[in-house]
Amino acid sequence: MLWDDFLNSDYHDWRGGDRSEDRLDKAGWLDQWLGEHHLSVTGRPTEEEMAELKRFRAFLFDLVKRLVHGSEASRDDIRTLNKLLAGGPVVRQITGSAGGYRLETQHFSTPVEWPQVMAEIAASFADVLINGEISRIRICDNPDCLWVYYDNTRNRSKRFCDDKMCGNLMKVRRFRARKKSSEI
Ligand SMILES: [Zn+2]
Repeated sequence: MLWDDFLNSDYHDWRGGDRSEDRLDKAGWLDQWLGEHHLSVTGRPTEEEMAELKRFRAFLFDLVKRLVHGSEASRDDIRTLNKLLAGGPVVRQITGSAGGYRLETQHFSTPVEWPQVMAEIAASFADVLINGEISRIRICDNPDCLWVYYDNTRNRSKRFCDDKMCGNLMKVRRFRARKKSSEI
Protein backbone atom coordinates (compact mmCIF):
# COMPACT_ATOMS: atom_id res chain seq x y z
CA MET A 1 0.00 0.00 0.00
CA LEU A 2 1.08 3.55 -0.62
CA TRP A 3 0.95 4.67 3.01
CA ASP A 4 3.07 1.91 4.54
CA ASP A 5 5.64 2.06 1.75
CA PHE A 6 5.86 5.76 2.50
CA LEU A 7 6.46 5.14 6.22
CA ASN A 8 9.04 2.46 5.49
CA SER A 9 11.05 4.91 3.40
CA ASP A 10 12.55 5.79 6.79
CA TYR A 11 14.58 2.61 6.69
CA HIS A 12 16.07 1.20 9.88
CA ASP A 13 18.87 -1.32 9.81
CA TRP A 14 17.00 -4.27 11.34
CA ARG A 15 20.27 -5.95 12.30
CA GLY A 16 21.11 -2.97 14.46
CA GLY A 17 24.02 -1.92 12.26
CA ASP A 18 24.73 1.35 10.49
CA ARG A 19 22.78 0.74 7.30
CA SER A 20 19.79 2.89 8.22
CA GLU A 21 18.94 5.44 5.55
CA ASP A 22 16.25 7.87 4.55
CA ARG A 23 15.06 6.55 1.22
CA LEU A 24 13.07 9.67 0.41
CA ASP A 25 16.45 11.26 -0.24
CA LYS A 26 17.30 8.61 -2.84
CA ALA A 27 16.11 9.53 -6.31
CA GLY A 28 16.15 5.90 -7.46
CA TRP A 29 13.95 4.77 -4.59
CA LEU A 30 11.48 7.62 -5.18
CA ASP A 31 11.16 6.78 -8.89
CA GLN A 32 10.58 3.11 -8.20
CA TRP A 33 8.08 3.71 -5.42
CA LEU A 34 6.02 6.20 -7.43
CA GLY A 35 6.20 3.94 -10.49
CA GLU A 36 4.84 0.99 -8.51
CA HIS A 37 1.87 3.11 -7.50
CA HIS A 38 1.35 4.53 -11.01
CA LEU A 39 2.11 8.07 -9.94
CA SER A 40 3.86 10.25 -12.43
CA VAL A 41 5.22 13.34 -10.70
CA THR A 42 6.59 16.64 -12.00
CA GLY A 43 10.25 16.32 -11.16
CA ARG A 44 11.97 16.06 -7.79
CA PRO A 45 10.46 17.61 -4.68
CA THR A 46 11.81 21.05 -3.83
CA GLU A 47 13.54 21.48 -0.49
CA GLU A 48 10.30 22.78 1.03
CA GLU A 49 8.24 19.92 -0.45
CA MET A 50 10.75 17.39 0.87
CA ALA A 51 10.51 18.97 4.32
CA GLU A 52 6.72 18.69 4.11
CA LEU A 53 6.90 15.06 3.04
CA LYS A 54 9.10 14.30 6.04
CA ARG A 55 6.83 16.19 8.44
CA PHE A 56 3.89 14.21 7.08
CA ARG A 57 5.78 10.95 7.47
CA ALA A 58 6.70 11.78 11.09
CA PHE A 59 3.06 12.65 11.81
CA LEU A 60 1.80 9.43 10.20
CA PHE A 61 4.30 7.25 12.03
CA ASP A 62 3.34 8.86 15.33
CA LEU A 63 -0.34 8.23 14.56
CA VAL A 64 0.35 4.59 13.61
CA LYS A 65 2.34 4.12 16.82
CA ARG A 66 -0.62 5.37 18.85
CA LEU A 67 -3.08 3.16 16.92
CA VAL A 68 -0.84 0.13 17.47
CA HIS A 69 -0.95 0.86 21.21
CA GLY A 70 -4.74 0.86 21.17
CA SER A 71 -5.52 4.58 20.97
CA GLU A 72 -7.87 6.08 18.43
CA ALA A 73 -7.16 8.81 15.92
CA SER A 74 -7.85 12.21 17.48
CA ARG A 75 -9.81 15.08 15.98
CA ASP A 76 -6.50 16.82 15.28
CA ASP A 77 -5.26 13.74 13.41
CA ILE A 78 -8.35 13.73 11.22
CA ARG A 79 -8.02 17.48 10.65
CA THR A 80 -4.41 17.02 9.55
CA LEU A 81 -5.36 14.16 7.22
CA ASN A 82 -8.20 16.22 5.75
CA LYS A 83 -5.86 19.13 5.13
CA LEU A 84 -3.53 16.79 3.25
CA LEU A 85 -6.44 15.27 1.30
CA ALA A 86 -7.47 18.75 0.18
CA GLY A 87 -4.17 19.01 -1.71
CA GLY A 88 -5.34 16.57 -4.34
CA PRO A 89 -8.48 17.30 -6.35
CA VAL A 90 -9.44 14.20 -8.32
CA VAL A 91 -11.94 13.01 -10.91
CA ARG A 92 -13.86 9.79 -10.26
CA GLN A 93 -14.79 7.53 -13.16
CA ILE A 94 -16.62 4.24 -13.45
CA THR A 95 -14.47 1.72 -15.30
CA GLY A 96 -14.77 -1.97 -16.10
CA SER A 97 -17.93 -3.59 -17.42
CA ALA A 98 -21.18 -5.08 -16.11
CA GLY A 99 -20.50 -7.37 -13.19
CA GLY A 100 -17.09 -5.84 -12.59
CA TYR A 101 -17.48 -2.09 -12.30
CA ARG A 102 -14.88 -0.16 -10.37
CA LEU A 103 -14.79 3.40 -9.19
CA GLU A 104 -11.46 4.73 -10.34
CA THR A 105 -9.79 7.85 -9.09
CA GLN A 106 -8.01 9.89 -11.72
CA HIS A 107 -6.08 13.12 -11.57
CA PHE A 108 -7.12 16.23 -13.47
CA SER A 109 -3.83 16.11 -15.25
CA THR A 110 -0.64 14.11 -15.14
CA PRO A 111 2.10 14.43 -14.11
CA VAL A 112 0.91 15.45 -10.67
CA GLU A 113 2.40 17.89 -8.17
CA TRP A 114 3.80 16.82 -4.80
CA PRO A 115 0.80 17.98 -2.74
CA GLN A 116 -1.25 15.54 -4.83
CA VAL A 117 1.16 12.74 -4.00
CA MET A 118 0.67 13.56 -0.31
CA ALA A 119 -3.10 13.55 -0.81
CA GLU A 120 -2.82 10.09 -2.40
CA ILE A 121 -0.82 8.82 0.58
CA ALA A 122 -3.37 10.31 2.98
CA ALA A 123 -6.19 8.72 0.94
CA SER A 124 -4.50 5.32 1.09
CA PHE A 125 -4.22 5.61 4.86
CA ALA A 126 -7.80 6.90 5.14
CA ASP A 127 -8.92 3.78 3.27
CA VAL A 128 -7.44 1.56 6.00
CA LEU A 129 -8.91 3.78 8.70
CA ILE A 130 -12.37 3.51 7.14
CA ASN A 131 -12.49 0.12 5.42
CA GLY A 132 -9.63 -1.81 7.00
CA GLU A 133 -9.08 -3.17 10.47
CA ILE A 134 -6.98 -0.78 12.49
CA SER A 135 -6.11 -3.61 14.88
CA ARG A 136 -4.20 -5.28 12.04
CA ILE A 137 -1.74 -2.41 11.66
CA ARG A 138 1.63 -3.46 13.07
CA ILE A 139 5.09 -2.14 13.78
CA CYS A 140 7.72 -4.91 13.69
CA ASP A 141 8.55 -6.15 17.20
CA ASN A 142 12.27 -5.89 16.51
CA PRO A 143 13.12 -2.52 18.10
CA ASP A 144 15.90 -2.00 15.54
CA CYS A 145 13.52 -2.53 12.63
CA LEU A 146 10.18 -0.74 13.22
CA TRP A 147 8.89 -1.78 9.78
CA VAL A 148 5.21 -0.89 9.42
CA TYR A 149 2.84 -3.42 7.86
CA TYR A 150 -0.72 -4.67 7.74
CA ASP A 151 -1.17 -8.10 9.33
CA ASN A 152 -3.18 -10.18 6.87
CA THR A 153 -2.82 -13.47 8.75
CA ARG A 154 -6.02 -15.24 9.82
CA ASN A 155 -5.18 -15.33 13.50
CA ARG A 156 -3.56 -11.88 13.57
CA SER A 157 -0.34 -13.35 14.89
CA LYS A 158 2.28 -11.67 12.75
CA ARG A 159 4.68 -10.02 15.19
CA PHE A 160 7.59 -9.42 12.85
CA CYS A 161 7.83 -7.91 9.39
CA ASP A 162 9.56 -11.12 8.32
CA ASP A 163 9.80 -14.27 10.44
CA LYS A 164 12.93 -15.47 8.65
CA MET A 165 14.74 -12.19 9.26
CA CYS A 166 13.53 -10.20 12.27
CA GLY A 167 11.76 -13.21 13.79
CA ASN A 168 14.91 -15.33 13.75
CA LEU A 169 17.13 -12.48 14.86
CA MET A 170 14.95 -11.87 17.91
CA LYS A 171 14.86 -15.60 18.70
CA VAL A 172 18.67 -15.69 18.65
CA ARG A 173 18.83 -12.57 20.82
CA ARG A 174 16.44 -14.05 23.38
CA PHE A 175 18.40 -17.29 23.39
CA ARG A 176 21.68 -15.43 23.98
CA ALA A 177 20.14 -13.30 26.72
CA ARG A 178 18.88 -16.43 28.48
CA LYS A 179 22.24 -18.14 28.12
CA LYS A 180 24.03 -15.12 29.52
CA SER A 181 21.76 -14.88 32.55
CA SER A 182 22.13 -18.60 33.26
CA GLU A 183 25.94 -18.29 33.14
CA ILE A 184 26.02 -15.68 35.89
ZN1 LIG B 1 11.33 -6.27 11.15
